[in-house]
Parts: sequence; structure tokens; C-alpha cells
Amino acid sequence: MDMNKEQNKIILSQIDNLLEQHNSLLDAYQKLEPLVLGLFDAERMSIFQRRRQHLDLVARFKTGDEIREIKVAISPQSIAGFVALSQQPLIISDVNDAGELKQIHPRLKFENKFDKTSSFTTHDILCVPILNAGVLLGVVQFINKKQGTFNDNDLGIANDLAALLGNKFRFELGGTKQPFQYLVHRNQISESALEQLMSSSKEHKQIVQRLISEHRIPENEIGQALSVHYQVPYLAYLPDKYHLFQSESRLNLSYLKRNLVAVIADAAESPFVVMAEPNNAALLMEVERALGIESYEISVGLPDDILQYLGEAGASHKGPGEMDDILDEISTSTDDLDEQTDELSDDAPAVVRLVSRILHDAKRMDASDIHIDAEKGAPTRVRMRVDGVCRDITQIPASHHSAVIARIKIMANLNIAEKRIPQDGKLAFRMQGKSVEVRVATIPTVAGEGVVMRILAAGGAMPMDKLNMSPRNMEMLKTMVKKPHGILLVVGPTGSGKTTTLHAVLGYLNTPEKKIWTAEDPVEITQPGLQQVQVSPKIGFTFASALRAFLRADPDIILIGEMRDKETAHAGIEASLTGHLVLSTLHTNSAPETITRLLDLGLDPVNFSDACVGILAQRLIRTICKNCKEPYQANQSEIEFIKRQYGEALSHELNITPELTLYKGKGCDSCGGTGYKGRTGVHELLSMTPELRALVYKEASVSGLKAQSTQDGMRTLIQDGIYKVLKGDTDIAQVQIISGTE
Ligand SMILES: [Zn+2]
Repeated sequence: MDMNKEQNKIILSQIDNLLEQHNSLLDAYQKLEPLVLGLFDAERMSIFQRRRQHLDLVARFKTGDEIREIKVAISPQSIAGFVALSQQPLIISDVNDAGELKQIHPRLKFENKFDKTSSFTTHDILCVPILNAGVLLGVVQFINKKQGTFNDNDLGIANDLAALLGNKFRFELGGTKQPFQYLVHRNQISESALEQLMSSSKEHKQIVQRLISEHRIPENEIGQALSVHYQVPYLAYLPDKYHLFQSESRLNLSYLKRNLVAVIADAAESPFVVMAEPNNAALLMEVERALGIESYEISVGLPDDILQYLGEAGASHKGPGEMDDILDEISTSTDDLDEQTDELSDDAPAVVRLVSRILHDAKRMDASDIHIDAEKGAPTRVRMRVDGVCRDITQIPASHHSAVIARIKIMANLNIAEKRIPQDGKLAFRMQGKSVEVRVATIPTVAGEGVVMRILAAGGAMPMDKLNMSPRNMEMLKTMVKKPHGILLVVGPTGSGKTTTLHAVLGYLNTPEKKIWTAEDPVEITQPGLQQVQVSPKIGFTFASALRAFLRADPDIILIGEMRDKETAHAGIEASLTGHLVLSTLHTNSAPETITRLLDLGLDPVNFSDACVGILAQRLIRTICKNCKEPYQANQSEIEFIKRQYGEALSHELNITPELTLYKGKGCDSCGGTGYKGRTGVHELLSMTPELRALVYKEASVSGLKAQSTQDGMRTLIQDGIYKVLKGDTDIAQVQIISGTE
């Protein structure tokens, strides 16, 4: 063994010498080939070199004086192409086993052109990427080990060989050791200044910004440096030439912004993936998967240019500036802003910065809401709600009201031309490196269009333990969602907190080894690690089509925002029966009613009851204000009400004594005199027991299903509400509201 290792080292150093003695790989090829094949005991090899500034690989062979070339795209359509794309080595024991290939990537194919035109048959392959300074420069592939199949030992040697080849390739291509090295060669910055700047900057984006602002290096020069290093073309922000590629709506915008990647297209609709750091193979694969396009070009772009392509018009190198300065600028501006110039005037830099300033101030003051209200014949009022109280913050000249509203609508992706009906949307901005999300609602009034913005709490999903579920429900829900496959439905009317619950569940399940895809309309809560997609029925991208796309992307867990129709419901059940955990929602009032609704849609009772792991019905009720909450002794009619609503047969569970203590809110400043502050969920969790399943097969009535579920331990929304009254979370009036909606 050690003898072999020694010998391998000697051969590797011979290879290194050979490469050094020849100008190019091609010149060294004939001497190199027998050495390398001997090292791996392989029948054939191909060394692919990345073509400069292209998204493909080319392998050149020299047989006698003849040079042959094979070109392969960097894509999952071939083994070499996939290794280049993923930048991960691969050992395939049988290339003709479609199942083995499919496990690696659903679109992976073995290109057997070679085998077909000759008597050669390929069995096993070892393929490793050739990287240098983190940039992909090629791929080396070995075919058919003579004795046995390729193993981890071969992989280790292949990695050593790839490192030697990587050095050679970088030299051939004139590549640089780090992204900004070329700026030193061009005398734009000294080596030591660059080193100092890089060591004192946190991330790529900051380095680029400082090269521009502190060292006054033109953006074009920085782009060239990145192009030389990453070996892909540099693409500047050219809004006249390129636009966002349409299918990009499938990718979550905040995900793209966070990762500094945009997919754009030219006038001929050819897609280009522009990345700040194009050596990020994992990111490129995510984008490639979500887009599902066969061919595209890859380029490097500056971070702010990418953000501008993604619609962040304020992504300039300057901060927004101070509110007073901006307002000064606006009031001295001679531009006459009237209604007709709305669409143009939102680009006026002062307005852009003003909106940005308002958002930043709101976040800094920890405001929950921002109100921008039109006033007839007077300046526009900007108010912010801080700790529940609205405060006047500033005024905007009436002449700029429309431009400010238009700017906000553009940021939130709303229709700026539509001013007569209310619209809802969402925007995100960055502050101190963190993304802040804002929900935007426009309200047409007689004085003009107003906007209310709610700043969403950072952190995304609510922890599952904060859902305030009863211990039985919490324990059961955790067991249900830990199952590797099946379907869990969360049901209730609009505004019953279904999305919050589903995201809490996803947050609980979200670990690096789980692949989670969500299709939502709209995406309200974002979580790192999830692949979140906004569906868009207008362009035919429905929940059902998203689900089909996800199934090709190797998911473990899928969230389908809503099962609106038979097609989606069918597809959801299918997916859960084929090894995925599917989460979804329905607009039904109770858990048992959900079953009959789905069977009415034409779902097969056997398939559905096999797939279903549970149904959670829920509502939101108001909670008693903690500031003015006080205990009191329940009177006889309240005790009667509680027993009657909970059910006489089960009321023993409540341990009600004649001296029952309940709570109410007296009313205070903090709750605006209402006695309530905040909301909590009430839940009804049905589990699919064998007894219940038998009833589903028979397509039993809602009351039959409800009786069996109750016997199995389910407690209804009202019962859970009463439990929360006794716990002191809420009062009887809130339970009466639930019984009115059930
Ligand atoms: Zn209060």
C-alpha cells in the first residue's frame, strides 16, 4: 500500500514536470496520457478545459497530427457537464443504469455518442472538477477501471492531479489568484492597499463599494478584474439592453437579492445569469433548477448593478441622506410634477431617497406602521405608529405626493396606474446588512391615494412552541410532521393564521439535510433555507404547475399554499403518496368538514385516508390585555355556558369548581380601553386513526366523522377556546365569536 502511494507521488511529480516543460496541455498530451492512465489503471481519459468566457467545456485529443475536439455544455445533460456545474466529484459504477444517474440529478444523462460509433463500451466513470483559486477551469474524467471499479483511493489521486491541471490552466488562461488582482496589474491600486482593504471588509459587496468610493476605481475596471478572475464576461447595468427574464418570478426576489444573482434577458429573450461571484456552484444550481431552462450564458456583475436589475432602484453607493436635506432639495426643485408625469417622476432621485429615508427612520424608531395620508390642498402627512401610538413624523409637499406613492407602489410591485381600488403588496429594503420586510396597502380616499405600510417583525417564522397549542395538540402535531411522507392540512377562513402555523411547522422541520420547497400566493413570511416560490396564475404558473416543477427538483417537504381546485388536490395527494411530506391549506370551517369537502371534489377515499396524517382547523381570537387583566369569580350562567359549550359528557376534563376564577381586561391606555391586546390561535386537530379511516372509506357524514374524531381525542375549536378561557388567555365573549363562525 505504502509502496503504491510512493509510486503514485513519483508519477504525479513526473506529470507536473511534463506540464511545466510544455506550453500547453495539448503539447504535453501524448506523453501525459499513458502516465495518467497507468496511475488510475483506466482504459480512457478525457481532460476538459473550460472555454474562456463561455459556459462550456472542450476536450482536445491529439492522435498523430490530428486534433479532435469534444464540446460539452456545463449543465446536467452530461456527466462532465454536471461535475462542472456542481463542482463536486462523482464516481458512477454503471453509466448505463438510468436509476443511478437519476439519483444524482433528475436530468443527468450519459452521452453515449462515443460508444455508439465504436466498439468501445463504457462501464464506470470517475470524474472530478478542476478548480483553481475557487474558479472552475475544467473537468477530468477517467473511464473503465481495468480491475474492479473506481474507489475513494482513485478519487484522492484524481483530486491531486486536478490541482496540478488547475495550475496549468490558470497559467494558460492568464487567470488571477484572487478576484481583484488584475487591478494591481493595472496600477489601479497597490498590492498592500488592496490587502488592507480586503482584510478590513466583511463581504464581497463591501469590497466593491470601497474600491469605488475610497479608491475611485471606475466600475468598468472592477468588472474587468472580476471577468479575468472568474473567466466569464462582465456585464454592466444596461437597462436599455437587458430586462429581467420573465420566468424569474418563480424565484423569490429576496433570495436573489440576498445572494446577488439576477436572471436577465436581451431583446431576443436569451437568458443571462448575472452573479456577483460566479464561482458559487451551489447557487448556480439552485437558479438553474428553479428556472428549468436548457441554455443560458453566465456573467459577472457588480453587486449594485445586480440589485438594480432586481428592481432596487435605490441601490446607489450613497446612503439615502437626511430627511431635511432631501425635503430641502424637493422644495427647491423646479420640476413641475403633475399627474401625467407620475411614472417618470418616481425615478427622481430625491423622491427615491425620501422614501428610503422614511423606511429607515421607521425601522430605527421601531415603528410598527407607517401612514402616508393625502390631505386636500395641504402637505401630505407622514405618521408612524410606535408602541401602539401614532405620531406625526414629517410632511411632504403636496406636489410630490403622487411621486412618493408611485415610488412605494413600484417597490411593492403594485400597479401604479390603478388608483381607484385598494391594492396589497410587499417590499423589502436593507438596513445594516439585514433585510427588512414591509407589507404595503394602498387606500384610495377623496383627497388622493394613501398608503399604510406595516413593518414585519424580523426573524420570519414564529417558533412552533409559541403557537399556544394545548399540550395534546402540540405533541400530536410534532409527531405528525415528523413523518417522512403524507399530507397535513391546515384549514380555516382567511385571516385565521394558517400561514403563520405552516411556517412555524416548516421552521421546526427546516434542517440542512431537508430540501423544502414552498409555493405561496403571496410569499408573506420568508425563512432562510427554504426554496420559496411565488405562484402567478396570471402567467399560468399555478399551484398545480409549481407542484409539478417541485417534484422534478428532489424535494423532501413541499408547501402548497392552497388546494383551490381538484387538480391541485389530486396532485398534492399523489405527491404525498410518493414519499414527500406535503403541507397545504383549505378554506373549510372544521377538520371533519374538510374530509367531506375533498371527497366531494372527487378524491379517492382510500388514497386520501392513506395520505392524510392530520387536519388542523384553526381561528384567531383576541387575548386579554396583560396590562389591565384582572381575575373575577365566574357567575352561575357563565359556568353553565362553559359546561354546555364544552359538552356535558366531557366537562369533567375541566375540573370546574363552584368558585371558578376567570379573567377580563378592564381597559387601559395600552389597549385603547378595549381590554384586549394581541391574538392567539384556537385549534382543532384531527388525526387519521384506523376507526376514522374506516368511516372515510364509507364516505360517512360530517357528524359521523366528528363523533369518531372526538372519541379519538380531538377537541373542537370551541372546546379549545374554553380551555383558553380557563387558562386566562381570553374571555367568554371571544368563544361566542368562534361559535358564530363555525
Ligand atoms: Zn389594557
